[in-house]
Amino acid sequence: MTTTQIRPSAATSTAAAQPDAHGHAVTVRGAARRYGSVQALQGVDLDIEPGGFLVLLGPSGSGKSTLLRGLAGVERFDAGTVQFGPRVIADSRHHLPPEKRGLAMVFQDYALWPHMTVRQNVSYALRRGSHQAAEVRRRALEAIESVGLDGKEDRYPHELSGGQQQRVALARALAGRPRLILFDEPLSNLDADLRERLRVEIATLTRSTGATAVYITHDQSEAMALADRIGLLNAGRLEQLATPEELYRHPATSFAARFTGVAGSARGIVRERRDGATVVLAADHILVAASGETGLQPGDDVEVLIRPTATTFVNDVSGPADGRTLPAVVVDVAYRGRGYEHVVETPVGRITGVFTAAARQRGAQARVAIDPAECHAFAIRHTA
Ligand code: ADP
Repeated sequence: MTTTQIRPSAATSTAAAQPDAHGHAVTVRGAARRYGSVQALQGVDLDIEPGGFLVLLGPSGSGKSTLLRGLAGVERFDAGTVQFGPRVIADSRHHLPPEKRGLAMVFQDYALWPHMTVRQNVSYALRRGSHQAAEVRRRALEAIESVGLDGKEDRYPHELSGGQQQRVALARALAGRPRLILFDEPLSNLDADLRERLRVEIATLTRSTGATAVYITHDQSEAMALADRIGLLNAGRLEQLATPEELYRHPATSFAARFTGVAGSARGIVRERRDGATVVLAADHILVAASGETGLQPGDDVEVLIRPTATTFVNDVSGPADGRTLPAVVVDVAYRGRGYEHVVETPVGRITGVFTAAARQRGAQARVAIDPAECHAFAIRHTA
C-alpha cells in the first residue's frame, strides 16, 4: 500500500460535476505502467457501469494505487485508454487534468486543510466552482449533516478524532456531487469498530448519490462488504473481476481463492471428473471439489483449497470414510463470541476455522465433513 502524497487541491470535488448527475461509466482498456524495472500495471481492462461500486483488492504492491491514480489523472499510464462514458479522457494523445474529470477523492490520511474549519474544508471545492455563496453554504451544511457532523462545522481538523476527520473528507467529496468518487484505503487508519460504522456510511451515502465509486483496499472482508464487483489485482494484472459471491464461490485461480480466504489446502492427484466436479485422492482420502480450474485431467497434480465455510464436525467420530469426511484431532480452539473456531489436524493437512456452538477439547478425536461446493481444485504447475 502506498501512502499517497496528493493534496486536496489536486483532485477533490470539482465544479465539473453536474448537480444530480449520474455516475460516470468507466472503461479502461490495456492500462499499463512501469516504474524503472517494476511493471506496476499490465494489460488491465475494466468496465464499471454508472453508479457501480468497484473495489480494487490485492496485496501491497499489486498495482491498486497506480490504477486509481491513473483514473484520477494525477498520473499517466504508459499505455491504454480511459473513457468516462463515450469520452476518451486519457490515451496516448489525450490527458484530461484531474480537476476536469468530475471526480472526488477520499484518502487514507484524510488530506484536510489543517488551517480550515470543517465548513471551510467542505466548501473549498464548491467555492472554486461557479456556485452562489448561499448555494455553497447550503450544500456544505447538507453534506456535513449527512455524515453526522452537524454542530461541528466550526471545528478545525486537530479538534476532531480520526473517524470524524474522515467523515469531513467524505462530506467534502459528496458536496461537489461528483460523478466518480475514488477511495484510497480510507478506513485503514481507524480502529475496528469505527471502520465498520464508517464503511456502512461510505456504502450507503455513496450509493445514494448515484456516483460511480472505485475503492482500493487490501482487506478482503472490507472488499466483500462494499463491492458490487471486485477487481482482484496480482502483480499488476487483473486476476479476476467478479461479484463478491462469484469470487468467493468460483475463484478463477488459486491466488484468487487464497486471497479470499482458505481454511486449508490439500495436495493430491485427480482420480476422475464427475458431473463437473473434481475427485481427488489426497493422502489416501477422497476429497471432492465442485469448482476450480476447468480442464483438469485424471492423474494431474492438484491442490484442493478448502473454504472455512466448507467444514463441519460430524458426531460419529468413527464414521464412514465416504469421501466427504476426514478423521481429525483438535489442536486448538478459540472463542469467537457466537461460538468456537477449531483448528484440526487431518491426514490431508491442517484445517482452521471449524466452527461450532460448543467447544471441543484440545486433543479430542473428531471427524470433519468437507462440503465439495466450498472446495476448489487447481493444478500444481511444476517448474523444471
Ligand atoms: P498497491 O497500491 O497495490 O500497494 P502500487 O500501485 O502502489 O501498489 O505499486 C505497484 C508497484 O509499483 C509496486 O511494486 C511499487 O513499489 C511500484 N511503484 C508505485 N509507485 C511508484 C513510484 N512512484 N516509483 C517507483 N515505483 C513505484
